Amino acid sequence: MLRVAVVGSGPSGVYTAQSLVQMDSGVLVDVLDRLPCPYGLVRYGVAPDHEKIKSLQNNLRTVLEHERVRFLGDIQVGPGGLPGARLRELYHAVVYCVGAATDRHLGIPGEDLPGSWSATQFVSWYSAHPDAADDGFVSEARSAVVIGVGNVAVDVTRILARGPAELSPTDMPQAALSALTASRVRDVHMVGRRGPSQARFTTKELRELGGLPSTQVTVDPAELALDPAYVDPSAALPAAQRRNVEVLRGWAQTPPQDAPRRIRLRFFLRPVELLADAGRVGAVRFERTEPDGQGGVRGTGRYEDIEAQLVLRSVGYRGVPLEGLPFDAASGTVPHLAGRVLRAGVVAPGEYVAGWIKRGPTGVIGTNRPCAKETVMSLLEDADVLVRRDLPEDPVEMLRAEGIEPVQWAGWQAIERAEAALGASLGRSVVKLADWESLLAAARAAGSQQVS
Ligand code: NAP
Repeated sequence: MLRVAVVGSGPSGVYTAQSLVQMDSGVLVDVLDRLPCPYGLVRYGVAPDHEKIKSLQNNLRTVLEHERVRFLGDIQVGPGGLPGARLRELYHAVVYCVGAATDRHLGIPGEDLPGSWSATQFVSWYSAHPDAADDGFVSEARSAVVIGVGNVAVDVTRILARGPAELSPTDMPQAALSALTASRVRDVHMVGRRGPSQARFTTKELRELGGLPSTQVTVDPAELALDPAYVDPSAALPAAQRRNVEVLRGWAQTPPQDAPRRIRLRFFLRPVELLADAGRVGAVRFERTEPDGQGGVRGTGRYEDIEAQLVLRSVGYRGVPLEGLPFDAASGTVPHLAGRVLRAGVVAPGEYVAGWIKRGPTGVIGTNRPCAKETVMSLLEDADVLVRRDLPEDPVEMLRAEGIEPVQWAGWQAIERAEAALGASLGRSVVKLADWESLLAAARAAGSQQVS
């Protein structure tokens, strides 16, 4: 029987497991994760107020409960944990679905001032990621700047603008809920370096900003007018960008109101420095840009400072190298041929990639389905050769003998019960456990370390 390890239990990992069991009736799949909880960015990235997208967890759950799939949590593959080479000894094939684990940097002065965070750090905090720092984030802030105009920027902008009535029904950890509920942030500036027709957010997400209670979205018509595709409605634009432009046009025509909170969408401003005020970030200096006629922008030598005691840099994710695997530093991905890892341009038998570590941090959750399928087709084409290698006994027994105790499905279910109990005790629905100790205590209380 073909035995496959999938490293990472986010959407790409789970869709890989799903394709494997659907396309091969004999395969056994173990889905490993560094965390004791499954679902990757669906649990720790999708915004807590996006309940419909969050409910995708139910589909992913069905896969992880399949009789030929096992979830093995709390296993770090790589330095300090299970060496990648050992993993390859225990399985015929390994599919790395580890995503893009870090954030891109701006590379400008002041980027690391207190009060300046990557959007992913902020997202991790309100999503209860056990490695998240608890800075309070908003405690000192009246004005926030979000750099970037992708969907993550829209998520963090929306969460900053939401009130207690909308946040408390979510599964956000109590500390984040208390901090956001007490927030005095009135202005959130979401700033793009290029024009409105080049923004990366999707129209559904953009429109949602306009529906937030007690919040006005403002756009400067003069700034929009710098974009030739905005001025000329007949300009050839992909449908998604055209819809974005139309939403922005509507907001530009809305007279200002005296709303308690304002989201200010800004364009053609490139960040050049974060300015300090009393040892923390106090403002962001931007250079005004203009279209260069080729889809990019050039600087104009004119500058504008926007006050901000909180800066969230939302300029995209980035893959990190994996121990023992080749890595293309320019794209932050593992070189591959239809999902087969390439070492110096040659296919490495038994090693595969899917998801963001394969194609870079783009696309929505569903994009991972065809991506995973392509990888699985490659793997199954290789299966005849792969299964010739004899494997040791059950990998979980081998791991135990080596001192690695995975959190299995019963452990994860115990975490879910603990989160429901915590929510009930706080008069809320489910509330996520936000630290390693609580997660592992809950998992262990279930005796989850036993092989099921
Ligand atoms: P993204 O879509 O790649 O957007 C990154 C933004 O950062 C762009 O506006 C980019 O501008 C800007 N940027 C990059 N470098 C910059 C710099 N040095 N200075 C100023 N701005 C800079 O990344 P993301 O928002 O992190 O999203 C990642 C993926 O997750 C996307 O595919 C997204 O759709 C997906 N996602 C989806 C949802 C959802 O469906 N609800 C939610 C969250 C994330 P340029 O275009 O000029 O480079």
